[in-house]
Formats: sequence, C-alpha cells, structure tokens
Amino acid sequence: MTDNLAKLLLRRSASGPAPILAGRDAAFLGPAFERLLAKGILTELPPASSWPPCAGCCCGFGERLIVEIGGQLVAQCPDDANADTVLDAADLRSFAIDADRLVAVLTAGTGWPDPPERLGASVWRLGDLAEGRAVVLVLDALALQPSVLLPILRAAPPPPSTTLVVPPGAAADARRPFLDMRYHLVGLLEALHPTDLALRREQLAPIGTKAAALSAGDILLTINPLGLAAEFGGVPLVLRARDFDVLAVIAREAADGRALARQDDLLQALAGGEDGADPVATEQLEKSISRIRDALCSAAGLPRAQGRKLIVNLSRRGYRLAVPPIRVVFS
Ligand SMILES: [Zn+2]
Repeated sequence: MTDNLAKLLLRRSASGPAPILAGRDAAFLGPAFERLLAKGILTELPPASSWPPCAGCCCGFGERLIVEIGGQLVAQCPDDANADTVLDAADLRSFAIDADRLVAVLTAGTGWPDPPERLGASVWRLGDLAEGRAVVLVLDALALQPSVLLPILRAAPPPPSTTLVVPPGAAADARRPFLDMRYHLVGLLEALHPTDLALRREQLAPIGTKAAALSAGDILLTINPLGLAAEFGGVPLVLRARDFDVLAVIAREAADGRALARQDDLLQALAGGEDGADPVATEQLEKSISRIRDALCSAAGLPRAQGRKLIVNLSRRGYRLAVPPIRVVFS
C-alpha cells in the first residue's frame, strides 16, 4: 500500500456518507489498488454516461452527454465546442468505498480480538486500550459535530476515557467542542502506519508528560496536535487557531526528527489545511511565526529577541524548532 493511496482513500472517505473514489485518481495506482478491489473495499460503479455542467460556460445546460468525437471521449457542451471537456477512459470509471471493510482493514493489525463495532453512521468503536480507554473512529467529517456524535457516544465510556480518531480535514472549530468535553483527539492520518493501510495502536493513547525525561535546561512544549491547547514550560500558550496549526506542524517535524517544517506545509496550515479556501502569502506566515515566537517567549519568561533562536528561519525553505533546548511532547 503506498502512502498516497491510503491517505487518498481516507480523505475521500471523510467527504460524505457514500464515498466515491474517482477513476482519475485511481488510474495511476497499481497493485495496491488491485488489492483494494480484491478485498471489496472498492467496488467499481457503472461507467459514467454524463458529465457535470461546463464550468465557466454560459450555456446554462445541466449534465453533459459524453460522446465520441474523432476517437476521443468528450463531455459536450451543446452550445460551445470550446467548452467541451476531453476525457480519457479512466475518467468514466469510479469506485464506491465500502467504509465497513475499510475500517476492518485499518484495525486488522492492531491486535484487538473483536472486529470494530459500528455505533452509528460513519462511527465505529474500534476496541479498547489499557485502563478501560475506548477508541472510537469517526470516518466522515460531517459526523464530527456534537448534535450527531454525542448521542452515538453514549455507547462509549465518558470523555476522559475515550479517544476519538477524527477524519482528515476536520476543522479546528469542529474539534474544539470535543476537546472542551475532554475527549482525547487523534487525527486518522497521524495514527496511520507510514506505509500501510493500518492504524498504529500506540498512537491512540494520550502520552503523559511523565514519559519525557527532561535534561537540565530543556523547555517542554506540550501540544495536542489536533486541539487548540499547548503549553510551553508549563504555561498555556495563547495563540490564534491558525497560528496554533502552524506551531503544530513545526512541532510535529521537530518531534519526528526531520526538524525542518517546509514553507509550503506551513502556508497550507495557515490557510486552514489542504482544503483551505484562502491561500496565504509568505508575509502572513512571517507574521504568524512572529506571533508564535512572542507567545513562546512570554510563556517562558524570555526576552522577545530570543524568539528567533526558538524558531529558526531557514531562508525560503521553512522553519525549524530549536530542539534542544525545546522538547516536544504530544498529548
Ligand atoms: Zn456549456
């Protein structure tokens, strides 16, 4: 299973109750894709015979017919040949994603004796960890709202004893109420095995700050990558939501040992993630970094000028957290 295919599948699954993988996405994927078909996670749907309306065309027609013109497949605009869309064979194919089978495969390597239990639409109790902690997966981003999820979660232990695995693209605003209720949140993609369509069980329990052995002079940055909560030197950081997302990316890279957070990834975080509507300029990123540096310095009682040493700018490439003295702990 390639990294990209697993993530692609989970991102599509987060987009609604009856997720579809488009043939255009699937066309380039080889044996791993065939395995998904063989396992019944993907089922091919009948080929498309029509195509969505022309974008930016004033013909006003709805669905377009797909016709063959000169050996090419074309979604034809009845009014304007310039608005025609040339398709290839892969475009006509699409695949339904079987969420139940997908979730079963995700948990197959985790060592839980029982298969996942479906608690509601797009919500599964995957299994339990030590000390009665339950792990509940929410696959569809639309299900991650209190009015939908709380009635379903009555079947699980109270919030401090339940980990919610949340779908890719879950916005900070959607996560916030569950964090406030003291659920432990883990991102599905963060809990995913790096090369496989499988969850890593060790990613699902909160990590106590006790786990980190501190050396003299270390300053602990405790961060919940999905929350809006972080502490630096034991003092809560006050940050805007998007600044927090930027800090989470920098901290994640530092904790993974890669150290450098790429500028593109940071710009994306600042724009609100992959589906962020508003692209941002590098100047905005610089301002965000500056606010984060100030927040770190003020939490740790350091002079503001120290900020540039805590988060180091690598010209045009990105930013790096100074580890040590900073030690990152994800909670
Ligand atoms: Zn048209």
